[in-house]
Amino acid sequence: MKKVFIDTMGCQMNKSDTERMLGMLSHFDYEETKEPEQADLLMINTCSIRQLSEDKAFSAVGTWGKWKKEGKNIKIGFCGCVAQQKAQEIFKRAPYVDFVLGTHKIYSLPEIIKRINNGEKVCECTETNSTEDDLAKKYEIERVKGVNAWIPITEGCNNFCTYCIVPYTRGRERSRQPEIIIKEAQDALDAGFKEITLLGQNVDSYGKDFKDKNYRLAELLKDLNALEGKFRIRFVTSYPTDITDELIQTALELDKVCEYFHIPMQSGSTEVLKAMNRRYTREEYAEIVKKVREKIADVTITSDFIAGFPGETEEQFVETLTAIDEFELDYSNVAAYSPREKTVAARWVDKYIPEDVKNERFQRLNKKIQENCLKSNLKYVNREMEVLVENFYEHKGKMINTGKTRNFKTVHIPCDKDLTGEFVNVKITGAKTWYLKGEII
Ligand code: SF4
Repeated sequence: MKKVFIDTMGCQMNKSDTERMLGMLSHFDYEETKEPEQADLLMINTCSIRQLSEDKAFSAVGTWGKWKKEGKNIKIGFCGCVAQQKAQEIFKRAPYVDFVLGTHKIYSLPEIIKRINNGEKVCECTETNSTEDDLAKKYEIERVKGVNAWIPITEGCNNFCTYCIVPYTRGRERSRQPEIIIKEAQDALDAGFKEITLLGQNVDSYGKDFKDKNYRLAELLKDLNALEGKFRIRFVTSYPTDITDELIQTALELDKVCEYFHIPMQSGSTEVLKAMNRRYTREEYAEIVKKVREKIADVTITSDFIAGFPGETEEQFVETLTAIDEFELDYSNVAAYSPREKTVAARWVDKYIPEDVKNERFQRLNKKIQENCLKSNLKYVNREMEVLVENFYEHKGKMINTGKTRNFKTVHIPCDKDLTGEFVNVKITGAKTWYLKGEII
């Protein structure tokens, strides 16, 4: 067996692509290693959301390039969103790279491996409109054993938010066929996975592009919920205005669908949202969150925000801080604005916010998010909750199991027995900013 190391950056979609690539490579006698020094094939699966991650990717392959120069017999692959965007340019900046593979063509990987082994340099970044499900059938996924299986249900995005590179790197939105998704879920359950997370840039617009059927996320959830056995279902990421009443009702009624919605707001200011080309106002977002909270008890709602979007005033930024409080957002990811080539906002150079102001807003946002996260966690102290254990490790001489509640709260449970993959009932005994403490009952 040869060894492959894949460094995965960015979002869950990239993690899922990595799983698929490892699955394909396993048919060609490659096994995964976590140690880059031991690998025959080194790949980086890149993210282009921020300049920083792009720079990190080039720095990582630079190290591998040095090993190659020193005489190590290795092959290097540059994959993912930066690959899709830069294509042949990658070879100019990193001539030691053997292949560049974009996000649309990951199923070309076996062919690419044959070609690079014959000494070719390969760049495969052509766009396609298919979800390549036929090829997916050919290369059954071999997931790394675990608790949570990530299953993409849509690829790409049609929204063209003015700051976002995704429509350029992942293409237009395409939904995968339900029968393929259901089979993938069944295979994961048969392999012992206990949680299925459906992935999409806008997971709640699933099925909008089906011409031959009226089958949307709600229908898919019902079909998955009907699969045998005890397991959980989650779906991320939701675009606020694509969350329908039917979807909320379905999530409420299905016992395996968890009480968790990730609904990025991006800014609390309606003017900034307009500049971002987000298709909702602050009030409309508030309405959606209210509906979800009213229907689903104990629901966790998380969000994403951008600090220092071009032209954002101090007053508009403060509206984001107040939104986090007002809508009681349980947790949010925050990023300082980073201009990305090709996007509309990147052209608004004269409106760029100075770095020091942007960073200060970033810090203030993070502080607000931490406060709210602790407030949200404190609500669960003394409650009984079900936890799906995901990890078991030693910390300061004690053995700890960690896992997630149905509503996506992390719980640390001191216990000498490894309970990974088990559902356990715990009493919540304490709350910290990022996690709850629990005792098995
Ligand atoms: S909805 Fe906007 S932010 Fe999300 S992937 Fe699409 S373009 Fe990007």
